[in-house]
Amino acid sequence: MGVAGVTMPAMAVSLLRILVLGSWLSLLIGLPSLQAHEGSAQDPEVEHRKCRYCDTTGMVLCEDKVHGRVDLSLEGNMVFCTHVGECPTCDGLGRIACGECERSDAAKLLTKMRERRKAAIVRHQELEAEMKRKLSGGESDHFRLLWDIESLKIGRKRFDQHELLHLFADRMEAVHARYLEVLHVKEREIPDRSAMAVWWLPNDHNEAARRFCGGSASMGVKRMGPNPFFSTCGTRSHFPTDDDLHRYLVHNAAHLLLSNNIPSLWMGQYKGGGWFDEGLASWFEIDLVERAQTWCFQEQGAGGPWGKGNWRVAVRKLVQQDRQSSVATVLSRDVNTLEQAEQAIAFSLIDYLIHLDGSKLPAVAERLKNKKPAREALIEHYGLSPLALETAWKAWVLETYPKR
Ligand SMILES: [Zn+2]
Ligand SMILES: [Zn+2]
Ligand SMILES: [Zn+2]
Ligand SMILES: [Zn+2]
Repeated sequence: MGVAGVTMPAMAVSLLRILVLGSWLSLLIGLPSLQAHEGSAQDPEVEHRKCRYCDTTGMVLCEDKVHGRVDLSLEGNMVFCTHVGECPTCDGLGRIACGECERSDAAKLLTKMRERRKAAIVRHQELEAEMKRKLSGGESDHFRLLWDIESLKIGRKRFDQHELLHLFADRMEAVHARYLEVLHVKEREIPDRSAMAVWWLPNDHNEAARRFCGGSASMGVKRMGPNPFFSTCGTRSHFPTDDDLHRYLVHNAAHLLLSNNIPSLWMGQYKGGGWFDEGLASWFEIDLVERAQTWCFQEQGAGGPWGKGNWRVAVRKLVQQDRQSSVATVLSRDVNTLEQAEQAIAFSLIDYLIHLDGSKLPAVAERLKNKKPAREALIEHYGLSPLALETAWKAWVLETYPKR
């Protein structure tokens, strides 16, 4: 994969983002994905008679007055959303069967959606009980989400809390989808929904971090392994722009998915696990939001993000000037000892291994989670000793990474 191949995913994602924004205008865009996720017995080839009332989805938005001004057309990407509220007409789904076309499978799908919503509410209420108040959030297919920020300006548009929650759901589901794709992982191999909470007030974040993650740090705290949980305080002092917050959430979602990917264990605490854990999380930042700037265990250096966030350019420069730490050194770090430049090299090593064959990464991860040295895991699955990896990786970096 050359440089063009490397930049392709970023382009694909900006296209996805446009599609997502477009979907906000249309109705019930989430229905096909719901069918796919449920593994519905329906034959996808079945032709339904075209219906202009529901776009042949079999469902229309609920018009009950209890929803007030809530934009129900957003609901396609979530199983349960607190903003829809309780409603006797739609049972809080925000949609009902279309009365005009009588798609025979609509009622069955609605029943299934009701069941999934019910289970999600129970889990959400556990969080509310802990925090002792109502919380804005809900669940998408693979995440439990809490979004506390009331409104944010993104570009020239001001998003309200409900819109931000659904944007959050889209972005985190994009990490999950890309993770499955790049590492060739099956949905069932990440057994639990990852919980992610974005607060506005430092006190709420501190409280959540203490209750759900058993730790504290002003910016973000995570619990890894089974039922992973991440909490952050999303104020502008931490994240001046939406891109900054987006990157940080993508990076941490990748950590949660990797730690929950069976065997559900956190590798970053072990010598030999830090490079993989941080390198992969940074890889998703760059893949989905173009630049990387998240340091989980290092103070960010003065003078802006390392390498201006353009890690491919910066790593190429290091390699060219032969100033980088040896691969053997990077491979031996845990997350606490990994330095900034080493994290960028870790990203680049992951980048190279994905270029060789991303489907072997889960097997390497499994070894690292079981405290095997990275050296052995790489020889076993990629047939590369640290020295052989260093030679091949350097040549690849010089050949394919952009000069600026
Ligand atoms: Zn909603
Ligand atoms: Zn309703
Ligand atoms: Zn219809
Ligand atoms: Zn990290």
